[in-house]
Amino acid sequence: MKGNRRANTRPEVALRSALHRRGLRFRTDHLLRVGDLRVKADVVFQRQRLAVFVDGCFWHGCPEHGHRPKVNTDYWSLKLERNRRRDARVNAALAGAGWQALRLWEHTPAEEGVEQVLASLAGANTR
Ligand SMILES: [Zn+2]
Repeated sequence: MKGNRRANTRPEVALRSALHRRGLRFRTDHLLRVGDLRVKADVVFQRQRLAVFVDGCFWHGCPEHGHRPKVNTDYWSLKLERNRRRDARVNAALAGAGWQALRLWEHTPAEEGVEQVLASLAGANTR
């Protein structure tokens, strides 16, 4: 899964800047331990237990841009399917630990991402 989630890709940077402009405080590239999984989230609101992931359209199979390569189709199907299963497992593990997982596509405009983050924070139960 190396190279699968690069730190500081442009959509992440845009999202973080937009969140900062709203005066939000958060951790970036934070490693969460959830059960036996180690999960690196792009943006983490620890107190509100919200983990935000900016998913690459190709790697995570975005419905608009996640088209399969036409060569080595077996290889790619397997690899992309594995990514999808891992995403689902991560979401379930986070939910089980009382966290919200918010997944944004890399094509999601930063301002729209901010709105989704704010909505998730509003629904978060802080303890
Ligand atoms: Zn996309």
